[in-house]
Amino acid sequence: MRPEDILGLTPAGVCCKRGGFHIDPTRPVERALITHAHSDHARAGHCAVLATQETLDLMRLRYGENFAGTTQAVRYGETVALDGATVTFHPAGHVLGSAQIAVEAGGLRIVASGDYKNVPDPTCAPFELVPCDVFITEATFALPVFRHGNPDGEIAKLLRSVVVFPDRAHLVGAYSLGKAQRLIALIRNAGYDRPIYLHGAMESITRYYESRGIALGELRLVRGADKAALAGTLTICPPSALNDLWTRRFPDPVNAFASGWMRVRARARQQGVALPLVISDHADWDGLTATIAATGAGEIWVTHGQEDALVHWCGTRGLKARPLDIVGYGEEDEPGEQSSAEAGE
Ligand SMILES: [Zn+2]
Ligand SMILES: [Zn+2]
Repeated sequence: MRPEDILGLTPAGVCCKRGGFHIDPTRPVERALITHAHSDHARAGHCAVLATQETLDLMRLRYGENFAGTTQAVRYGETVALDGATVTFHPAGHVLGSAQIAVEAGGLRIVASGDYKNVPDPTCAPFELVPCDVFITEATFALPVFRHGNPDGEIAKLLRSVVVFPDRAHLVGAYSLGKAQRLIALIRNAGYDRPIYLHGAMESITRYYESRGIALGELRLVRGADKAALAGTLTICPPSALNDLWTRRFPDPVNAFASGWMRVRARARQQGVALPLVISDHADWDGLTATIAATGAGEIWVTHGQEDALVHWCGTRGLKARPLDIVGYGEEDEPGEQSSAEAGE
């Protein structure tokens, strides 16, 4: 059996015909296996969805009760037989509930990793290395220029700025699912124990993280807070809110943004970010190449991002590699979280 006999491509994305399912399909299908709840991977409208309990809960929070016809929760390490294939979910270290999906048939194992990172994150289970024949990797930061470094150094930079500007508010742009909660946890680990303010769009997901046992300290909503009282405070908000009228409620705000893209100075400048924080939930160049090598896979399929550089790198290592060219994956957008449209904001 060849890998292509197990997983192929349809207009909806990666498909296992013999198992009767798609992985992270970009349009509605009969049976979808979902790696994690970011909107480019987890869409509403599938007949049946298999995912971790956290991913199902987060999809329900974002899309509502009827986001799928039926759902089935799969635990990490649990193997499920689906017609002509078996699948097992393993932690991907990307966000709460994120999974790599190992598909096995005919003695071959293909791992679809979704999005992943191989560095510690206090808000989710650590990435698990799964030996395989074919590894499907993301390539969001697959250029040698992307080296994320230590996030603690970036948090120290932020907290120093808060001390230096006690009369100003600090706003930190961060994606609502995963990045925001990791940022708060990192800030707490650095010893900051004052209340942290939240944009309303982050409330439900953040409360969900807390309900899963992730301690985030005292959190307050910006809504209703007095402008003068926000001097010297820290607020986490969706990136789109940084350039919004919403920021007028803060005294002389300092804009920060936590993202792997902040390694690119021009991008930070262009977005009006005074305090770029290089903190990413994706593997950087070293993380991607080290992980690919460690899986022992002889064949690499590359999705969303800088596919060419990674395919080329694989070639220099004697690995067979090809881009999958799936349209529809990219940076996590923020469905329904336009800050200005939000009630009460
Ligand atoms: Zn993601
Ligand atoms: Zn992605």
